[in-house]
Amino acid sequence: MSRKTMDCRDIPSESKCTLTISGEEDEVLRAAVMHAVDVHGHRDTPEFRNELLKSLKPEPQSATRR
Ligand SMILES: [Zn+2]
Repeated sequence: MSRKTMDCRDIPSESKCTLTISGEEDEVLRAAVMHAVDVHGHRDTPEFRNELLKSLKPEPQSATRR
């Protein structure tokens, strides 16, 4: 299973958030949705989840541990 990372700095927002979330894709997505709703005031919609999913990146190899 490949791990993904989401970096809030890649997503334009007014709060200048620097959070990064790493894990397996569904874990990152779930945490990212909760974070976006909680901190950024987004609404949890299928469209928004899709947008988040597109912003996930593969986690750098050096940071991967088993
Ligand atoms: Zn954020």
